[in-house]
Amino acid sequence: MNSLRAPTTRLQPKVKITGRVVGDWMRLFEANIGHAVPLLTDLDRAIGDGDHGVNIYRGMQSVVSKLAELKSPDLSSQLRVISAALTSSVGGASGPLYGAFFLQSAQVVLYKSEIALADLILLVDAGCQGVVKLGKAAVGDKTMVDTLSAAVISLRESGLRRDSLPAALAACSLAAQRAAEGTTPMVARKGRASYLGERSAGFQDPGATSAQMLFEALAQAVALSLLPSPTHSNPSVSP
Ligand code: ADP
Ligand code: MG
Repeated sequence: MNSLRAPTTRLQPKVKITGRVVGDWMRLFEANIGHAVPLLTDLDRAIGDGDHGVNIYRGMQSVVSKLAELKSPDLSSQLRVISAALTSSVGGASGPLYGAFFLQSAQVVLYKSEIALADLILLVDAGCQGVVKLGKAAVGDKTMVDTLSAAVISLRESGLRRDSLPAALAACSLAAQRAAEGTTPMVARKGRASYLGERSAGFQDPGATSAQMLFEALAQAVALSLLPSPTHSNPSVSP
């Protein structure tokens, strides 16, 4: 019976997150955000000032162009470049917050050129803690922290189940989507939406929604890395 297992193992190479996957992740996130600008604008108009979609799209355009300039990147330098681009190019609160996410996540992958699920859990957890440290929001405050925390929990559960990376990211995307949707009945206790008090209930949080898209894009980037090289060489994801 054992001999039957060997080919299966060979057919399922261990999927890793490499520098190339991170590049695809950011290009896909930029493209998806580009398509979602009207949605994010509407969500932020309802409980904020309407700039979230434009803010994040501007930030992601900067991220993609700065990453393209990076010579022979390791994961940590990529994440630091992403952090700096978001912090410096996004006017709203979400820029420094996403910047903190990537700055803290960079610390977890120092000197690494690829990571598997165990390190991804640490990366997303560190990123989430970076956002919490800067913004002081807790789960239930109706912010991006609700989505980020749900993603960490989902990835940890996948780690315990020894899920493959693609399976873990599929579960994580779903958990992130549910968490973003779960912000709708909440009353905002942080950020601009908190000025509305009880009137902020009934609307999905824009930052929680863009954070959901961050994990969707990572799942897509990992799925793309499984395709044969010619198809994968230049993902045509730009809008
Ligand atoms: P601004 O509120 O300055 O216009 P954006 O519209 O770009 O910034 O981003 C708003 C999003 O930022 C919110 O939907 C929320 O998810 C997130 N946010 C705001 N303040 C905080 C905070 N203190 N902690 C975590 N997330 C926050
Ligand atoms: Mg706003």
